[in-house]
Amino acid sequence: MAIPKETVEQILQASHIEEVVGEFVTLKKRGSNLWGNCPFHNEKTPSFSVNPARNIFKCFGCGKAGDSAKFLMEHEHYTYPEALRYLAKKYNIKIEEREQTAEEIMLQTVREKMFNINEFADKYFVDTMWNTEEGRNIGLEYFRERGYLNPIIEKFHLGYNPDSTHWDAFTEHAKKNGYSEELLEQIGLSIKGQKGLYDRYHGRVMFPIHSLTGRVIGFGGRILVNDKKSPKYQNSPESEIYDKKQTLYGIYFAKNAIAKQDECILVEGYFDVLRMHQIGIENVVASSGTSLTIEQIRLVKRYTKNITMLYDGDAAGIHAALRGTDMILAEGMNVRVVVLPPEHDPDTFGKDYSAEYVSNYLKENAKDFVRFKTELLLKDAENDPIKRGQVIRDIVETISVIPDNIFRITYVKECSRLLDMPEQALTNELNKLLRAKYRKELGQEGDVVTETTTPQPKQEDDIEDQLPAGYYQERELVKLLLMYGKETIVDQRIDENNETVYEQVSVAQFIVDDLKMDGFQFTNVVNKKIFDIFDQAIDAGQIPDDQFFVSNEDETIAQLAADLLSSPYKLDQWEKYGIFVKREENMLRTTILSSLFRYKDLIIEERRKDIEEELKSADDLADQLILLKQKKDLDEIRRQINERLGIVIAR
Ligand SMILES: [Zn+2]
Repeated sequence: MAIPKETVEQILQASHIEEVVGEFVTLKKRGSNLWGNCPFHNEKTPSFSVNPARNIFKCFGCGKAGDSAKFLMEHEHYTYPEALRYLAKKYNIKIEEREQTAEEIMLQTVREKMFNINEFADKYFVDTMWNTEEGRNIGLEYFRERGYLNPIIEKFHLGYNPDSTHWDAFTEHAKKNGYSEELLEQIGLSIKGQKGLYDRYHGRVMFPIHSLTGRVIGFGGRILVNDKKSPKYQNSPESEIYDKKQTLYGIYFAKNAIAKQDECILVEGYFDVLRMHQIGIENVVASSGTSLTIEQIRLVKRYTKNITMLYDGDAAGIHAALRGTDMILAEGMNVRVVVLPPEHDPDTFGKDYSAEYVSNYLKENAKDFVRFKTELLLKDAENDPIKRGQVIRDIVETISVIPDNIFRITYVKECSRLLDMPEQALTNELNKLLRAKYRKELGQEGDVVTETTTPQPKQEDDIEDQLPAGYYQERELVKLLLMYGKETIVDQRIDENNETVYEQVSVAQFIVDDLKMDGFQFTNVVNKKIFDIFDQAIDAGQIPDDQFFVSNEDETIAQLAADLLSSPYKLDQWEKYGIFVKREENMLRTTILSSLFRYKDLIIEERRKDIEEELKSADDLADQLILLKQKKDLDEIRRQINERLGIVIAR
């Protein structure tokens, strides 16, 4: 469906980047920008910045940058229209929906179709549970029996898929509403049997699985009868919109609480999540079925560095708690473990005890993971010296994955006490492991590793050598155009009567005219494109603002604009270059003048060098004269520029 251009502009203008990004990344204010850990690459210290004034984000670590729509496209893997629709919804902007043409429907992406059918199914399951006799008597009754109240059932969109004679109540309903058999099978709501398509979840209560943004990406269905042949839980197969290893059940409902409380409680099942929410503990998610993945850990890490694992008190639960924790530690996060009394899981525990009792229990019993593991393994080993040795190696292995050296030292101290072993012995063991790891990472062979050496950083010069002359100077001018293009400065020039006249011009016009007057042209393609846009806009009398470039349909322009607008402009940096201003002038004008000067001076200098080179090899006198003339012209241009820009350069 096409969104009218005016609506697109309206949406982008209404969107506040800090609010859009803030849904996914915990941001802290520092200076005029907000900072957080980049969601696109793994990092320990925030290099991901959000600039509310410019309405853009930029990561100084991995370079991703852009406006609100770009962020959603990168982060949620939305298409551009999907991102706009998301923003429109968020900011209550009505998109004029018109009937889709057959062609548009064809073009609708598979992903969009999948989201649509899931939404349709979600509504159907909820509606069936509340508004049919079977739904109320079987589905709703089941949740009620387990002690779930309406608010939680409604919040999580719990539902019911009826158990009709041919197991096809939902499938038929979907087909009647125009959904294709192919899509139904693809998304896994229906299964192809001998007699045709039937409901995957017939006779099950339904748990929709939501993405971070609250869209239904899959379902879990729980069986209600005792049937050994059928699994207790049926889950959606993976699809274009459902990637199990990237999904945490409940994250949409928990993310704000996780960020606010700076802690994420990790449980195993759907009901554990529901129960905790019902008793008011909302920073809870479940890995549901799969063992914890690195992607899930990073999902949590966007909101907090603290994970508390809440597991059943039985042996299986404790075993599950041990799994995956090294991965969390390796991400530089803090892990704590709470083990429930043996007869309980989080669901039953929350049912039997008051909310206050549960939260106190969590507070009092949360144990640092390294300590938890040490105590647990020690209990197993008792007085068996061989097992004890294994425990020590096991613990040291765990400590070795922690990226922060200070934490490692703290843990060595603690374990030395718990294991009743000298600290130095543990440290030696740890260093042995660390060296082995380091070797492996470097891909080196051999046994001897001497001092740790830092790899030589790539020389800046190497990079600069490959860049065309004036690369940075061009960028600087483009940056000034983008940042201050619409602002006005006073231009002074000498008129026909040899009198100095002052006039107000836009920065864009000032820069563009100045470059054109001396016949300078940007060499970089994107810079040139931006220059041309300004050039034409000046003629048309309407200078575009920064948003126009940041949200430009030309990807390369949008990216460069976001890049350049992200870093603040240091208005005083010209002093560093030994440039001194003759008169008191406003900073902006001075900066523009010095930038123009540096750019032109450099280009001219390059050209002069070329000419001198050519002169050396020019045998022909005529050639030599031409070259000498060119050189003289250049010097003259330089002198004029010098004079006009009113700057003295220290050389
Ligand atoms: Zn990044």
